[in-house]
Amino acid sequence: MLKIVLTGGIGSGKSTVARLFQRHGVPVIDTDEIARDLVRPGRPALGALVDAFGPRILTADGRLDRARLRELVFSDPAAKARLEAILHPRIFSELERRLQALKAPYVVIAIPLLVETGARGRVDRVLVVDCPEALQIERVRHRDGWDEALIRRILASQAGRLERLAVADDVIVNDRDLAHLARQVAELHRLYLRLSAERDD
Ligand code: ATP
Repeated sequence: MLKIVLTGGIGSGKSTVARLFQRHGVPVIDTDEIARDLVRPGRPALGALVDAFGPRILTADGRLDRARLRELVFSDPAAKARLEAILHPRIFSELERRLQALKAPYVVIAIPLLVETGARGRVDRVLVVDCPEALQIERVRHRDGWDEALIRRILASQAGRLERLAVADDVIVNDRDLAHLARQVAELHRLYLRLSAERDD
């Protein structure tokens, strides 16, 4: 099974692209979703985070306060490394478990922070969703109602477009309408099916 990693900056259109692949019947694994699931109340990873950062990272009803945690690690590389040491091995073992259970010509694995975390691993191709910053800002403002300063701060903390494009095997440019996006996904779907069939020959 071919492993395609899907990555891109905030609001570039990763989730939309993932849904378009799903419409072709392609399985998608979202590592962000795995990460959220791992830190639900009662899960061991949440206990490990509280041991490392203290109960200040919990909300009053015992859930992970993601905004607080993000704030704590934002400008503290050591804290960020501690957080990643707790989460990453758990995310990757869950990813492996889900991959083992799949049977398909290829799978799309969404790893938003692929470049930032250096999590290249054993993947066959990297697919980058690229989009001008101004559009990323406009789309996130529209979707989440966040103000521009916050979105710019997140953008500045992420890898730049060029850094991301440097690791890309395939690029989707999401600077037009959804029909244009869907056409690019359909074209890549054909490519990935062909590559998968060639590999099985
Ligand atoms: P995040 O990094 O924040 O998780 P993302 O990369 O998954 O974001 P999406 O949620 O897919 O990005 O897209 C951001 C917003 O822009 C969504 O509201 C989506 O519906 C919209 N959007 C994405 N692509 C297009 C497009 N080509 N035309 C119009 N709207 C789009």
